[in-house]
Amino acid sequence: MDYSHVRDVDPAVADALSGEVERQQNTLAMIASENHASEAVLEAQGSALTNKYAEGYPDERYYAGCEYADEVEELAIERAEELWGAEHVNVQPHSGSQANMSVYLAMLDPGDKILSLDLTHGGHLSHGHPANFAGQTYEVEQYEVDADTGYVDYEGLDDIAHEFDPDIIVSGYSAYPREVEWERIQETADDVDAYHLADIAHITGLVAAGAHSSPVGVADFVTGSTHKTIRAGRGGIVMCDEEHADAIDAAVFPGAQGGPLMHNIAGKAVGFGEALSAEFDAYAEQTVKNAQALADRLQENGLSLVSGGTDNHLVLVDLRPSHPETTGKDVEAALDAAGIVMNANTVPGETRSAFDPSGIRLGTPALTTRGFDEAATREVADLITRVIDDYDDEEVVEEVSARVDELADEHPLYE
Ligand SMILES: *Cc1c(COP(=O)(O)O)cnc(C)c1O
Repeated sequence: MDYSHVRDVDPAVADALSGEVERQQNTLAMIASENHASEAVLEAQGSALTNKYAEGYPDERYYAGCEYADEVEELAIERAEELWGAEHVNVQPHSGSQANMSVYLAMLDPGDKILSLDLTHGGHLSHGHPANFAGQTYEVEQYEVDADTGYVDYEGLDDIAHEFDPDIIVSGYSAYPREVEWERIQETADDVDAYHLADIAHITGLVAAGAHSSPVGVADFVTGSTHKTIRAGRGGIVMCDEEHADAIDAAVFPGAQGGPLMHNIAGKAVGFGEALSAEFDAYAEQTVKNAQALADRLQENGLSLVSGGTDNHLVLVDLRPSHPETTGKDVEAALDAAGIVMNANTVPGETRSAFDPSGIRLGTPALTTRGFDEAATREVADLITRVIDDYDDEEVVEEVSARVDELADEHPLYE
């Protein structure tokens, strides 16, 4: 990746692009929503399809010259249907948020009611936060995780649903380390005659590989991001039964978007193709094993985890019991200086502000892509603990940084 054409016309941008490749190579990405797409996916995303207008859907376009756009989109759809077993897949959403927007547009009228998980308990902005279009357009009520166990409070959800009478219930989360019980939420949705949207943005890859149970065939709608645990480049998807296919397609285009990003759809096609392999199943399984190794070791080292462990690709550390004076931002800055890139996160029952919360969120998808196994992940857990214990000690941060450099070198990213 020398970006030679960019360098010829624009050295400033070329320097930033090369700098980013080096940053990714030289640091450990533990932001739970991040991953490293293959060079094949990057090449497809950087292809000449970025020039093509293809409003509409394969064989029903509003523009001429769409034969290759059609081929690419049909491949992406076929592969997605095979990966997740959905009757209908729309691969055009520009991102996971647009995928959710399309479901709301298709099924709700302004003023209708959404029931979703509180953002500080692991939900997502697009589930109806006041700062998001969904929060401004619909009436939103929230359920929570149980403050003691860290698991979704399914009984509380059921109670609120019976009282609030939502039009749609949203499941699927951004900072939730446990398996989601899709059927249980579906029962509530059936009881109160609401639609059920399962947003698997974080766990698309785990679900595709069978490393997490699937809501496809349970919930009415399943949405996802394509750049998180599935390494298909930045974008979103919506899945549903044939019954809702036309409504969803019309909501994505022209409801929420204009021309599809055909170059990104090419990236999705390539990434989905890669994910159909046995290697990808092994990758997803290893991602979960690494998260569990990380969880076990952090707890052995005296840290407290929300829900006491993990079933998926992420862990959520609550700093309050072990380090009451240390905030998530303190740790985020010190770990960043040491080359471990993750994010501060709110925890259930948060007592600080969302800008400087009491927790940190750590994910294993990107490290697993680079070949980290459980032993290497345990070492990373030890490095993280050292920094948390002495986040304001520059010597400690420097020592950890030196070891991070070695680990990064031992796990090359792009050749
Ligand atoms: C990441 C995420 C999304 C989508 O995010 P985009 O950045 O728009 O792709 C939606 N829902 C959840 C639960 C997420 O974690």
